[in-house]
Amino acid sequence: MNLSHELRLQAIIDGTRAGTWEWNVKTGEVIFNERWAAMLGFTLEEIKPLSIETWNRLCHPDDLKQSYALISQHLDNKAPFYECLCRVRRKDGSWCWIQDRGKLVKEPDGTPTDWMMGTHIDVSVEQEYQQRFTHLAASVPGILFSFEMDSPLALRFNYVSERSHAYFGLDCRVIEADASVLVDIIYPPDFAEIKAALKSCYKSKSETSCQFRIIIDGSEEWFQAVARPIRDPFGKLVWHGMLTNIDDQKQLENTLAFLSVTDELTGLYNRRHLTRSLNDCIKLYRRYQKPFSLISLDIDHFKRINDLYGHLVGDRVLSKLGELIKNCLRGSDIAGRMGGEEFLVLLPNTPEEKAVQVAENCRRVINQAEFLNEDDTPFVVAVSGGVLEVTDDIASAEDLLKRSDRLLYEAKASGRNMIAW
Ligand code: GH3
Ligand code: MG
Ligand code: MG
Repeated sequence: MNLSHELRLQAIIDGTRAGTWEWNVKTGEVIFNERWAAMLGFTLEEIKPLSIETWNRLCHPDDLKQSYALISQHLDNKAPFYECLCRVRRKDGSWCWIQDRGKLVKEPDGTPTDWMMGTHIDVSVEQEYQQRFTHLAASVPGILFSFEMDSPLALRFNYVSERSHAYFGLDCRVIEADASVLVDIIYPPDFAEIKAALKSCYKSKSETSCQFRIIIDGSEEWFQAVARPIRDPFGKLVWHGMLTNIDDQKQLENTLAFLSVTDELTGLYNRRHLTRSLNDCIKLYRRYQKPFSLISLDIDHFKRINDLYGHLVGDRVLSKLGELIKNCLRGSDIAGRMGGEEFLVLLPNTPEEKAVQVAENCRRVINQAEFLNEDDTPFVVAVSGGVLEVTDDIASAEDLLKRSDRLLYEAKASGRNMIAW
């Protein structure tokens, strides 16, 4: 095909749908093509006379400033090209995003001319998507991220949303450059959890979540990361997900978990937890012959205390007993209130003789403690107790509790303020 150089160039420019600009940096003279004006909703005729002032008037002032700064860099030989994203006013008053690119024209021998030439491409649609995504990322309650994995422990973040800075003071670009900066802010005891989740992530290639703590201003806060793999257009697996702060939820979970096993009045375990622990101890005994003993304690004539001093004083007695009993036990013992004025203690790995000593100590400590009524008059509280060690002929938890009740009854019948076994 024997087309002229000029015709070919024109065809290429038409094909790219680019607006073209030529600017004499000395005189301010400017040439735009028809497409340049059409991009903004004008005809060239409408915006004549053309000069650099036409551009100065239509370009957003903030972008204009940046554009001139970048042009200076190029003219000072600090950048091989000039490139800038600018907002330009359309005829209807709306803004058009334009990718502005250009270069100083040089003679074939390298001598610079006074002319810069370049193109303007309308990138409004792409910018709108970009802006929408940025706004979404800034408004979701968490940090958005995407990463690739070469191995379970080699993580590379392609993207981290800007909220990383507000959440834990780390710039998203710093994390994108090197994921290992996160090691410094993760609460070390949770490393194992994260490693396990990453391994599972790598292996299962399905949605994975992980809860761990991050150190913020010296104290830990709970976070949850959820990520799901999606194949990119080139077939590579990329994980996309979000990191959210779940500290409030976690605190609530902990409080609920605590309340669900705690007796409010005494601060000891409640009946539900004691029953579960008792069943666990029985299972361990049956499977591994792990011995344990059981102490039951019941306040002597508690009804009389209530009747004499009132229900509130009775409650205070229960509460104080909780404390006294706890102070007589080891950390591994499980003490709770079964209900009313009855307490139960499970002593893992403890033979009966040792449990009797513990029960006897509890009884003595309680009996020697000073209790005060509403008038601050002191009174004495006594408890009776039963102790037994689990044996092979124990059929069930109920069976164990029944035997323990029988021992308690024996102690009561023998005069109270004593331990039977
Ligand atoms: P014993 O020496 O035979 O065990 O006599 P007791 O009076 O301790 O036993 P009884 O079973 O006759 O009475 C238990 C009393 O405990 C009756 C009930 O009002 C009281 N009680 C149960 N739960 C609570 C509580 O939460 N607070 C208070 N203040 N009293 C309670
Ligand atoms: Mg009782
Ligand atoms: Mg009683």
